[in-house]
Amino acid sequence: MDPVKVIRGMRDIYPDQTKWWHRLERQLAELLKCYGYGEIRTPILEHTELFKRSIGEETDIIEKEMYSFDDRDGSSLSLRPEGTAAVIRSYIENSQWQKEPLSRYYYLGQMFRHERPQKGRYRQFSQVGVELIGAAQPAADVELIDVMVQSMQAIGLSKTSLELNSLGCAECRPVYRQKLKDTLEAQRQNLCDDCKRRMVKNPLRVLDCKVESCRAIAGKAPKIIENLCSDCSQHFTHVRKGIETLGIAYNINHRMVRGLDYYTRTTFEVLAEGLGAQNAVAAGGRYDDLVKSLGGPEIPAVGFAAGLDRILLNLISSLAEPAQADGVFVVTRGEEGWLAGLKLMQELRKIGIVVQSDVRSGSLKAQMKRADKSGSRFVALLGEDEIRQESVTIKDMRAAADSTEKQFSLAKKDVVQELLVRLNHQSTGELSH
Ligand code: ATP
Ligand code: MG
Repeated sequence: MDPVKVIRGMRDIYPDQTKWWHRLERQLAELLKCYGYGEIRTPILEHTELFKRSIGEETDIIEKEMYSFDDRDGSSLSLRPEGTAAVIRSYIENSQWQKEPLSRYYYLGQMFRHERPQKGRYRQFSQVGVELIGAAQPAADVELIDVMVQSMQAIGLSKTSLELNSLGCAECRPVYRQKLKDTLEAQRQNLCDDCKRRMVKNPLRVLDCKVESCRAIAGKAPKIIENLCSDCSQHFTHVRKGIETLGIAYNINHRMVRGLDYYTRTTFEVLAEGLGAQNAVAAGGRYDDLVKSLGGPEIPAVGFAAGLDRILLNLISSLAEPAQADGVFVVTRGEEGWLAGLKLMQELRKIGIVVQSDVRSGSLKAQMKRADKSGSRFVALLGEDEIRQESVTIKDMRAAADSTEKQFSLAKKDVVQELLVRLNHQSTGELSH
């Protein structure tokens, strides 16, 4: 019988990789805490309707990328393709604006999109997302952009660039849209098939098409930031002033329109080198109309999401191997040795020491080999002699072979305390941080 395989575009992650995930998640959580953001957890499944209403019917995500299925009562559910919609659904459902003047949330978790799998593009991937809900001021955009840039720095991502654009508002965007449509109409025959379709319902999406002929047309099209109303224009000027004051470098990217319909005004993206076509590691923007369009009051917001899989792909070559596991490996002989070993391991773990043993037992030699491979600092040996003498033989795996410290005996009653002292004083380095 053929073994069952993992689903295409999805991956298994083993301990030699999860250690990097843990580090990344910890660094992000620490940084976000400094900015006053707290973690929100929402379900992975939502009503399909939520995503249709927020992300927009004419987007790639809704048209072809969602994992949707019918629940037992026939209602359509979807695995979340992104995080913002659920956060806002929850914000409205719980009337959060009545409890706090500003809401600062972040989330960390798996998203699902049925796209063509490539390097850095998976069907299940992880994002960290950050949302600031309740402020229309440019200061909020600046805070979010700052958080995004600092997050990338904190995790050690170098060689990144920040792209900035404004998509205007309900007042100026339709005017620009028409202007753009007229320009595209004249070039219709040179657009790719997708863009011929996009042009009708979502002409802005033509601007970020990757097809060469469309890119050429987009490059000559009218620029949205030259067509903003005065409020949007002023807003954008203030955002730029703020991030310039923080010393954050950026490029204005007229072609960055983002793939989700809910964005208004400022949009931004962080690109990283070395990831080929999948070079966007974080992206976001302002979404002043989303809360209202999902049935809440008129409350402005701004947010971004960063793709952790891509970030790790980029980081992995530069990540240093963490120091060897520092701890104790317990080697035993005979039934009594095994039972005494169990007690010893329990006591050591209780005070936070990493303890391993070879549960397959086997000969002393085989166990010692395992101990050596484990990278443990000390071996604690419990055989017949030790049981009789109420002692434990300790081997220091990192002491020189001729040193008196290489092997010594400790009284059973002192062993826990003595190992703790030695591990704290002589540990060769910090673990994986
Ligand atoms: P792209 O242009 O690469 O398709 P996107 O605009 O669809 O990205 P967003 O929806 O803004 O991406 O999501 C934010 C981030 O999540 C992206 O910048 C990227 O790092 C990551 N991301 C998006 N889709 C995937 C995926 N299928 N696999 C891995 N990471 C992804
Ligand atoms: Mg995409």
